[in-house]
Amino acid sequence: MAIRMKKGFWIFLVLVLAAGLGYVYVFHVDQEKPVVQAFPEETHTNGDEPLEIRVHDPGLGLRSVEISVIQGQEVKKTVLEELGAGVHDWSSFIDLPDLVQGEFTLQIRAVDRSILNWGRGNVSELSRTMVFDSIPPSISMVSNVHNLNQGGAGLVIYSLSKEAQHTGVRIGDYFFPALKQPDGNYYCLFAFPYDADPTGDIPRIEARDRAGNEQVSGFNYHVNPRSFRQARLNISDNFLRSQMPQFESHFPDENDFFEVFLLVNRDLREKNRARIKEIAARTSADLSLDSPMLRKPNSAQMAGFADHRTYYYNDEEVDRQVHMGVDLASTAQAPVPAAGGGRVVFTGDLGIYGQTVVLDHGLGLQTLYAHLSSVHVQEEEEVERGQNLGRTGTTGLAVGDHLHFEVLVSGVSVNPVEWWDPSWLENNIFSKLKPKD
Ligand SMILES: [Zn+2]
Repeated sequence: MAIRMKKGFWIFLVLVLAAGLGYVYVFHVDQEKPVVQAFPEETHTNGDEPLEIRVHDPGLGLRSVEISVIQGQEVKKTVLEELGAGVHDWSSFIDLPDLVQGEFTLQIRAVDRSILNWGRGNVSELSRTMVFDSIPPSISMVSNVHNLNQGGAGLVIYSLSKEAQHTGVRIGDYFFPALKQPDGNYYCLFAFPYDADPTGDIPRIEARDRAGNEQVSGFNYHVNPRSFRQARLNISDNFLRSQMPQFESHFPDENDFFEVFLLVNRDLREKNRARIKEIAARTSADLSLDSPMLRKPNSAQMAGFADHRTYYYNDEEVDRQVHMGVDLASTAQAPVPAAGGGRVVFTGDLGIYGQTVVLDHGLGLQTLYAHLSSVHVQEEEEVERGQNLGRTGTTGLAVGDHLHFEVLVSGVSVNPVEWWDPSWLENNIFSKLKPKD
């Protein structure tokens, strides 16, 4: 009897110890370290924005977080936060102390509530070398003369005192990125868009460095206001029957061809313009154009750049849109020559534009060829001036066989007439690119 009691006692003791150890293990030991993050991830800062520190402990919770800002041998700022039980997520915005220009170190040390490491817990440390920089880039003009036409293009050349992360020309809501050249200068091909106000919208060069310091500069320019043609377009049932079926898949809930037309002319047009803006990013820093653009030979201009179109259906005004490009017609399914040498950056269906090719000529300059019946080039292919890209047609929102041709500057349509004109090109683009003695 006594032996059996003794055995029972030992079993009881082992169970109690096991339960105790289990309790300690579950509630006081965890193997997972806290996760420490600091935002923004950019290493350069001008101190205008605080740093955001985020600490997460997946286990038993955090015990303390210590943040230090060290420059040279000096600790410029320390924040120590002791945390109560049950805190798994902690974050704080830390303003930088006064620093001198140059490198400093951000150190973060987070400890959790585990009793591992002789009770000290799991420790995570983050040490990041950062750069304090509060000096904005300065902008020096290299090009002096900038004669612009409303709806046309221009080129500015400038240099910056330091590397920029964002730089280019802003006009109203439009922004045209500049591209850095091997000689260190920045070239910015920009448009004075057809809908910009020649007296109210003043072009400015913007430059922002990695630390967020921004400089803005005006430049010397003259802009000639232009007026654009008003055009009346009658929508016939014949046109709706021939051109709307191709768009039915875009608007499966709409059965009425006239309603489909309005959706295409408004919503699809906007979507397609947004796609053209995306394609604009696929440009090279080198301008490949070295001669005037080639205008499709023997063709009549059926519609002009920035024609302001009013659409009528059954003699009633139903819509207004602006025609961004020129329409050139000759014979049906005529060959379409490349306006200049460049790289094919888009081929395929582009909604209202139908079968389309976009060529990149560098510096954000691109040409677009729309309503094609066939395409003879592939994306990434390098083409020469005059090379056959395909044949004209009526795909997309086209009335009759023609080529819809656009010249684009960073995705913004400009008047192609300038790019066909040898003296405009020489005076406004090529003469600026020649090295100066
Ligand atoms: Zn057109």
